[in-house]
Amino acid sequence: MAEIKTQDIMEKIVSLCKRRGFIFQSSEVYGGINGFWDYGPLGAELKRNVKERWWESMTRQRDDVVGLDATIIMHPRIWEASGHTTTFSDPMVDCLLSKKRFRADQIEPQSGDAYFWTGAQDRETGKAVPEPYSVLIPSGKDAEYARKPARQFYQLRGLKSPALEGERMEPVVTSIRYNPENGSLLTEPRAFNLMFKTFVGPVESEDNVAYLRPETAQAIFVQFKNVLDVARQKVPFGICQIGKAFRNEINPRNFTFRSREFEQMELEFFIRPDDVAQASLGAPPDDAPVSTPAANWGWKEWHKYWVEERVRWYESIGLTRDSLEFYWQKKEELAHYAKATVDILYKFPFGTQELEGIAARGDFDLTQHQKFSGKSMEYFDEEAKSKYVPHVIEPSAGVDRLILALICNAYCEETVTDDKGSPETRVVMRFHPRIAPVKVGVFPLLKNRPDLVAKARAVRELLRPHMSVFYDETGAIGRRYRRQDEAGTPFGVTIDFDTLGEKPELLDTVTLRDRDTMEQSRVRIQDLVPTLLAKIT
Ligand code: ATP
Repeated sequence: MAEIKTQDIMEKIVSLCKRRGFIFQSSEVYGGINGFWDYGPLGAELKRNVKERWWESMTRQRDDVVGLDATIIMHPRIWEASGHTTTFSDPMVDCLLSKKRFRADQIEPQSGDAYFWTGAQDRETGKAVPEPYSVLIPSGKDAEYARKPARQFYQLRGLKSPALEGERMEPVVTSIRYNPENGSLLTEPRAFNLMFKTFVGPVESEDNVAYLRPETAQAIFVQFKNVLDVARQKVPFGICQIGKAFRNEINPRNFTFRSREFEQMELEFFIRPDDVAQASLGAPPDDAPVSTPAANWGWKEWHKYWVEERVRWYESIGLTRDSLEFYWQKKEELAHYAKATVDILYKFPFGTQELEGIAARGDFDLTQHQKFSGKSMEYFDEEAKSKYVPHVIEPSAGVDRLILALICNAYCEETVTDDKGSPETRVVMRFHPRIAPVKVGVFPLLKNRPDLVAKARAVRELLRPHMSVFYDETGAIGRRYRRQDEAGTPFGVTIDFDTLGEKPELLDTVTLRDRDTMEQSRVRIQDLVPTLLAKIT
């Protein structure tokens, strides 16, 4: 792959996403809305494929996990019980000059000369604004450089011609009190709750406040008993869900990575408390293999098991172990109820960042809902002859972050030789065939030959019940291949004169082109479906 600078890669990826219809800015014709993204035709297919594979591997291929599809707006007490109304916040600061809002913990530390003023007075009217202000400028730069934004600051507070007062300068080192973009002082950090608020019913009163869910997990906890009653499951078992979540992020950024509306794929896997699981058999040794669940597994084994399962799933859709990193949260970073959390990170072009968190959450959530709702969340374990509130292991993944990771992972530029023997750059999206938005392109060699077109359409109809097909008859065949390379379509089928029997031994065969190797082979039409299905499932 040709070497491309990191920031260029993101620009190229964002531009390809728009140009080819993977991802658009939401409400673009109105100038967009920060933190919201839409998926175009290819993006919608990609997302659907990823969610379907997750659902398939989480529930349909397992006996011990069932699904749920709950509402986005739920009883507001849920968020009191879960702690979201009081603690689901980020520290927020505002630029005193531009009003731009930042997450305090994401401000880059800066050094330089900080200028301070105690206030300002209007030269004409004598009006005073005794509000202190400060600006940080690079060391040694002329003071006038700081005074200019300071005057603007006091002008915003009603002084037409401000005379700055009480100026002093002090060098500062690694300060996070200033806006990195313009040097202006920031407000003191304030806690900002990330939940979107709304009102249920026609009256906008505090009694009718509700929240758009900031995660899908809580619905699973509050429906635990209902699912248990109907699903004929015994602990250990899990409930999984895919759905929208909303967070009023202070600073959405890195394309879709941090959005305000996104989707999650979450599993709550309920397990026995360690003392119940290990009462008769004792704890497994620390190095016990975690591939096949055993009756005496405690939270540590189940946690390791789910980390391994999730990594294997990422591998199955084309993210190699090498492209991932694992971060075991340190004791001081863990939520107070969590026993352990592993973040699975992907090496994005803009940095190595979280795709999924896998947490051992103890019995915190069910116990909280038991307390707040007054309804028992206990489970009677017939085998262990014991009653307990189950503990939980939670693998929680973001769909949109994963889509972005898959797009970054697939993006590839390479130099190839065109029809005339000159070098050209080929952009190819090397999606794993399992998740590729379109599985196969079908092309008649020439558009103006009805016999070729009819045969190509027949091939399209043959394939369509089994996979997503894109039919394209316009333009030179090489250009049609390139378009599908950019869409990440792993296979191309071309109907040519040999298909029609120009060489009798090749009658009813087509060329099958492989996106990655660009190699072409001759395949009988009757073998196409099984040949392709073997490659895409
Ligand atoms: P971060 O620290 O990056 O804000 P988080 O640890 O708060 O993420 P969780 O609450 O563990 O995230 O949510 C589980 C998953 O949901 C994350 O791993 C991520 O994939 C996804 N997710 C969370 N917030 C966002 C967001 N604002 N935009 C897109 N995906 C998100």
